Amino acid sequence: MVDVVIIGGGVVGCMIARELSRYQLKTVLLEKEDDVASGTSKANSAIVHAGYDPKPGTLKAKLNVRGNPLFDKICSELDVPFKRIGSLVVSLTEEEDRVLEELLERGKKNGVPGLKIINREELLKMEPNVNKKARAALYAPTAGIICPYELTIALAENACQNGVEIKLNSKVVGIKVVNNGELAVMTPTETIHTRYVINAAGLYADEISKMAGAEEYRITPRKGEYLLFDKRFGNIVNRIIFPTPSKISKGILVCPTVDGNFFIGPNSNDVTEKDDVAVTPEGIEEIIKGAQKLVPELPLNHVITSFAGLRAVSDTDDFIIGASKKVRGFINVGGIQSPGLSAAPAIAEMVLEILKEEGLSLKEKRDYNPERPRVYKFRQMNNEERRELIRKNPAYGRVICRCETVTEGEIIDAIRRPVGARSLDAVKRRTRAGMGRCQGGFCSPRVIEILSRELGISPLEITKCGCGSEILKGRTKEFIETGGVVDAK
Ligand SMILES: Cc1cc2nc3c(=O)[nH]c(=O)nc-3n(C[C@H](O)[C@H](O)[C@H](O)COP(=O)(O)OP(=O)(O)OC[C@H]3O[C@@H](n4cnc5c(N)ncnc54)[C@H](O)[C@@H]3O)c2cc1C
Repeated sequence: MVDVVIIGGGVVGCMIARELSRYQLKTVLLEKEDDVASGTSKANSAIVHAGYDPKPGTLKAKLNVRGNPLFDKICSELDVPFKRIGSLVVSLTEEEDRVLEELLERGKKNGVPGLKIINREELLKMEPNVNKKARAALYAPTAGIICPYELTIALAENACQNGVEIKLNSKVVGIKVVNNGELAVMTPTETIHTRYVINAAGLYADEISKMAGAEEYRITPRKGEYLLFDKRFGNIVNRIIFPTPSKISKGILVCPTVDGNFFIGPNSNDVTEKDDVAVTPEGIEEIIKGAQKLVPELPLNHVITSFAGLRAVSDTDDFIIGASKKVRGFINVGGIQSPGLSAAPAIAEMVLEILKEEGLSLKEKRDYNPERPRVYKFRQMNNEERRELIRKNPAYGRVICRCETVTEGEIIDAIRRPVGARSLDAVKRRTRAGMGRCQGGFCSPRVIEILSRELGISPLEITKCGCGSEILKGRTKEFIETGGVVDAK
């Protein structure tokens, strides 16, 4: 029997897992996909919000403002890049000027530090590419940018290093109360008995809660589409540029990424399917129009990819965090839509408090290590560091991804680290191989080769993102199977 089972390996589940790994507990995290950060945590705006947007008194407001300052320490411990670049909400009309005042007031009520409204001249000095018709902006210096999947992977690795068992390809299909104080969690291959279950299943948290016989609520998927631009234009803006928000979203923004690109998006449209992440022509048109209001001169011929993420919108319009009143030991962490990434560290703290109230005893481990071993990033090293690394291991001297300068050594590390990569996308999220201008056109075959060699499996078994997404099919498959003898017809 284990102490805690966490369902879901998104940023929330992994943050909770890392927090629990400080204590003498047996914790298991179950993730249905072949990697952590495979749900909403891999496709969002990647902003650690300052906290002026959520309604005062909500969990969203409280946990966003509490979570924001925790990022510096977490990211430094985990060797994850985080840049506190600040954000600007730009007003273009007199009516929007009033919205800035409202946001400032709301921010003050929420306890956000450093907020101020700046005038047009100050704004254009800070951001020369912003629409010259702008009138003013709300400046929030504490907002930051991060890579959400890098953070999630780092949290999972560190939790694993500290004893949490992370089981991938483990979809929870049933939860039963065995007796008072014991729950059985079922996947297609095993049943795990546990005292506590944390439901951090993102878009599917409503289904998991229902499955356990706990409180019922509804999660609706709300899509946000994006366009990502080449690094050549990464400094088109220096800060996160928002329009004034609507009732349902923070609007279509223009934002740099920690890796040196910039993106526009997201729009905000309810969809029916929880896996509908298709980018549509209408969606692209909508985000271009929206972003051009803020930055009129967008280099639209330098878009390198598009993607979409799904917000888990709950029918309470707030995070749903709490112990079930119906099923002892079952804790909901559902409806974690934006600002869920920003709030994640504070959500984890809150969940630990709930577990304590529910009777879990938390004894600290003596050997807990909050630091994740360094991840080598060849592209960020100077020549001396590079030479030293290649001397230790020549695999760091073989560049596999030319766009992002990712070496074979880094790809091997990504496969061998705790919660190691098993698919092309998992390598991409850990190393950036395939994230550049050519989007994997050149390096994918080499990455397949390395994955196949390191995992000791046939290249035919290598997937893009788990079972069913095998890459080598048709004639290529035939070519490999026959050892290169293929009918030329
Ligand atoms: C368009 C968009 C923009 C956003 N921008 C921001 C932002 O800038 N800043 C911010 O703070 N927040 C933002 N958010 C919100 C943020 O991304 C989410 O709050 C956060 O990622 C939620 O994390 P999670 O762990 O709850 O969910 P997820 O990342 O979805 O993780 C849930 C996991 O549970 C797994 N799972 C589901 N069912 C099962 C099952 N039966 N068994 C096992 N595993 C299961 C899933 O595969 C998934 O990996 C944005 C969201 C979207 C969609």
